[in-house]
Amino acid sequence: MDHQEEIEKNEQIGISDVEEDLPRTDHMAYLPDMEKLPDSDIQDRVIRAMEEYDYTRYTAADVKRALAKEYLTPEDFGALLSPAAEPFLEQMARRATEETQKHFGNSVLLFTPLYISNYCENYCIYCGFNCRNRIRRARLDEEGIRREMEAIAKTGMEEVLILTGRAGR
Ligand code: SF4
Repeated sequence: MDHQEEIEKNEQIGISDVEEDLPRTDHMAYLPDMEKLPDSDIQDRVIRAMEEYDYTRYTAADVKRALAKEYLTPEDFGALLSPAAEPFLEQMARRATEETQKHFGNSVLLFTPLYISNYCENYCIYCGFNCRNRIRRARLDEEGIRREMEAIAKTGMEEVLILTGRAGR
């Protein structure tokens, strides 16, 4: 199949192939075909920690203690997010810069995202490829991926992030 035929085929598949009628009222709910993690308590733990977080109980001493540590605990982050940390914004910014320098130096890493397919059954609100959006959909074959990689290589970019939407086919 040549490139033009591939595009035409993808356009024929187009929007009729995605789930347009999915009810979507709860963005935290699983959609059909999503893998459920019944034994995971992560969501409960996060919600419990959120509910138990009392930002009024932290003092300037807690903030200073947190800033003096090399490794911070979730409790230390609680102090840094509290109103008691407001007078320490400058120190916090300096500490954040130090940590960034320590891990990444002065480099800025750029990468090119390459979607090899933008078909998707999901409806992540923030995403332009979500199944409710009426956009042109395509899936690259090996030749298409090679063409895209060559085009990216010509720009001088060396880091490529390969992505797809989530489609069960
Ligand atoms: S492509 Fe990814 S982020 Fe976008 S709707 Fe699909 S699953 Fe969500």
